[in-house]
Amino acid sequence: MDIGKELDTGGYEEAYLADVLRFKMKREGKRFWAGDNISDYVDEFHMDQLIDEAREAFELVLDRLLIDRETDPNSQGTARRLAKMYFNEIMAGRYEQSPNATAFPNDSEGKYDGMLVVRSELKSMCSHHHQPVSGVAYIGIIAGPKLIGLSKYSRIAQWCARRGTLQEELCMDIAREIEFATGSTDVAVYIQATHGCCENRGIMAHSSLTQTTVLRGAFKDDAGTKKEFFDNIKLQQEFAPR
Ligand SMILES: [Zn+2]
Repeated sequence: MDIGKELDTGGYEEAYLADVLRFKMKREGKRFWAGDNISDYVDEFHMDQLIDEAREAFELVLDRLLIDRETDPNSQGTARRLAKMYFNEIMAGRYEQSPNATAFPNDSEGKYDGMLVVRSELKSMCSHHHQPVSGVAYIGIIAGPKLIGLSKYSRIAQWCARRGTLQEELCMDIAREIEFATGSTDVAVYIQATHGCCENRGIMAHSSLTQTTVLRGAFKDDAGTKKEFFDNIKLQQEFAPR
C-alpha cells in the first residue's frame, strides 16, 4: 500500500491509512475526539485514500442495514457520497488547518476600544447521533491589541462547528479560538441552535432550541459589559435579516 511519503508508521505495517494515522496519534498522545482538529496529522495528499477507505466502510454499513446498494439506483453511490461529505463538508473542520486570520495592529492613537458583536450562521453535527445542528452564534469581543477582518469571526466559528460537537463544547471552542486569533481576553460567545437529534428522533420536539453562553474577562466580571452584549444580541435579532 502506498500511504504517501514521509509517513512515520512507527515500524508497523497497517492495511489502512486511517489506522496508521490513528495509531500515530495514540502513540504521540494526541486526542482525536469528534470535536478535535487533527490537521497536524492529516495532509491533503492523504485525502483521496481516506475517503476511499471510509467508502469501503460505509458500504459495509449499508450491507448490514440490508439496503441493496447493487440494484437500488439511489443507493449505488451512497457510500462514496457519505465518505466525501464527512471529510469535505460536515467534518471538514477536523482536517483543515485553522483559517488564516490576518491580524491588524490596534494600538494607534485613536484605537478602537469598544465592543464588537458579530453574528455568524452555524452548521454543525452532534457527535452523539450525527444529526444536524443548525443555528447562529453571536461573538462579542472588546477589541484587544489585534483586530481581525469581520468575516474571519464567521470563518473561525464555522471551522469549529464543522466537526462532531456538543453545543457546550462548541461554544468554548469558538471562544478559545477567537481569543487566540485576536489576543483579547474579553470574549463572549452565545449560541442558539436547533438539534436534529431532538427534532428527528427521541422526543421529536420540533422547536427544540438550545442556548449556551461562554463569558470571559469583562463579559464575566462587569455587569455593564454583559448587559451591553445581550442588548446587542436582542437588537441584532430584531433587525438582522434572518
Ligand atoms: Zn444528538
